[in-house]
Amino acid sequence: ARKGKTPEEVVKRYLQKVRNPPEEDCTICMEALAGPSGYKGPGVGGISRAESVGRLAQCGHQYHLQCLVAMYNNGNKDGSLQCPTCKTIYGVKTGNQPPGKMEYHVIPHSLPGHPDCKTIRIIYNIPPGIQGPEHPSPGKPFTARGFPRHCYLPDSEKGRKVLRLLLVAWDRRLIFSVGTSSTTGESDTVIWNEVHHKTEFGSNLTGHGYPDPGHLDNVLEELKAQGITEEECLP
Ligand code: NAD
Ligand code: ZN
Ligand code: ZN
Repeated sequence: ARKGKTPEEVVKRYLQKVRNPPEEDCTICMEALAGPSGYKGPGVGGISRAESVGRLAQCGHQYHLQCLVAMYNNGNKDGSLQCPTCKTIYGVKTGNQPPGKMEYHVIPHSLPGHPDCKTIRIIYNIPPGIQGPEHPSPGKPFTARGFPRHCYLPDSEKGRKVLRLLLVAWDRRLIFSVGTSSTTGESDTVIWNEVHHKTEFGSNLTGHGYPDPGHLDNVLEELKAQGITEEECLP
């Protein structure tokens, strides 16, 4: 939660005014942009007709202001906004990863497919706990299975770049989340978020191992979808 900024103020920061809405539908509520928002929920009052539609400044997609505020209120309200059409991120996206530890070190062995370098081992550790307001069932416990989880990257230039970006993702709480595991079906548990990790070292029995020539590029794409790129992380 951002102090002193109402959801409407946050959303408006990323919007340009639209005087004459186009003859298109708002893809959030499926109603005409020229008409009122189809969103009938609580908490959004006093939006004047003059500012009822906004254009997202970077990507140009247009929505009812009231629809964007409703979407923002449904998320974790971290001051960032993601365009539901093209996924452009405004501000800094963060997640709901529970507290824990991320560590890494280099081990003197090569991964299958990366014979010319050593290996970075990342160790994630998250203990079970109680869900916060940002989780699916606030106040209820969550479990944490299979921790510490060990993950592997080649200690190459690109592997080290991925590591730097994963450290940023960890700080922004984007590596894990709390939800239902698609592997075990267990709910209210710590699960991987949308950034793939390799958890097998010398074999590939689960499909989460090496060799996988596209892995580092895939991870860079997945990090980009979370708003994390090298350009953005350099001073
Ligand atoms: P999940 O099953 O909901 O899957 C989320 C994402 O993680 C998917 O993209 C999936 O492809 C990926 N994923 C699934 N298994 C993976 C693995 N072994 N290594 C790397 N990525 C994996 O997410 P989840 O429940 O967090 O992942 C399940 C994995 O967690 C298990 O395979 C295991 O490694 C660990 N786990 C261990 C125990 C245990 O008791 N030891 C229990 C549950 C989960
Ligand atoms: Zn709408
Ligand atoms: Zn967009």
